[in-house]
Amino acid sequence: MEKLFISERCKDITENIRLIRENVAKSALESGRRESDVKIMAVTKTVEPVFINHAISCGMDLIGENKVQEFLGKKDFLKLDGCQKHLIGHLQSNKVRQIVGMVDMIQSVDSVKIAREIAKRSVEKEIVTDVLIEFNIGGEASKTGADASQAYEMIDEISKFDGIRICGLMTIPPFSDDERENRKNFSNMYRLFVDIKAKKIDNVSMDILSMGMSNDYCTAIKEGANLIRVGSAMFGARTY
Ligand SMILES: *Cc1c(COP(=O)(O)O)cnc(C)c1O
Repeated sequence: MEKLFISERCKDITENIRLIRENVAKSALESGRRESDVKIMAVTKTVEPVFINHAISCGMDLIGENKVQEFLGKKDFLKLDGCQKHLIGHLQSNKVRQIVGMVDMIQSVDSVKIAREIAKRSVEKEIVTDVLIEFNIGGEASKTGADASQAYEMIDEISKFDGIRICGLMTIPPFSDDERENRKNFSNMYRLFVDIKAKKIDNVSMDILSMGMSNDYCTAIKEGANLIRVGSAMFGARTY
């Protein structure tokens, strides 16, 4: 890559991060919280290490990758000291062994089956893997996540596995330009989060509610998100 291109794009990333932080602070305040109550994840899929490292140097201390292979291929080029990394993309059973122990959290646990596999591989490695359970909150229009109507049963079952610890919930609502529709999905998710928290299930800490991406993170924060996942608003449009 050309040096000038790299430095121009890094300048953009610096400015984008400043703007995102400003928006986060404003939205947190509007929902009666502080800026520090909301964690910003830098979503780094398709982003080259030089730009990820720049975001880290700007203070980003949490990155999210979608694909096991892409993360494992990039990680040795990243300056990850003090930076946490989460897997946020759909995980297949045959990739679990490779990723367990390599990330700080798996946010995309969408079935008992995949949870069982994560638990099994974690026990083999004598570790406990922190996870979020991903629910589909938008009904048919949503493509990923477990059926939210089964949330309690699913979490109850997974909570009994050794080697895995549920730390909260994650969702990707269906894309919508309709602000009210977005709000409704996020607030339904928040309600689910609060309901499950109130059940005080053993081995389950409902601490993290991961929702909101580049187009809707302000709405998500106002509806109760405490972890937002921001990709294109930070790094620019993705080129695959
Ligand atoms: C890509 C991705 C994001 C970030 O998307 P942007 O719209 O670029 O912010 C967040 N969460 C998940 C699970 C993703 O796959």
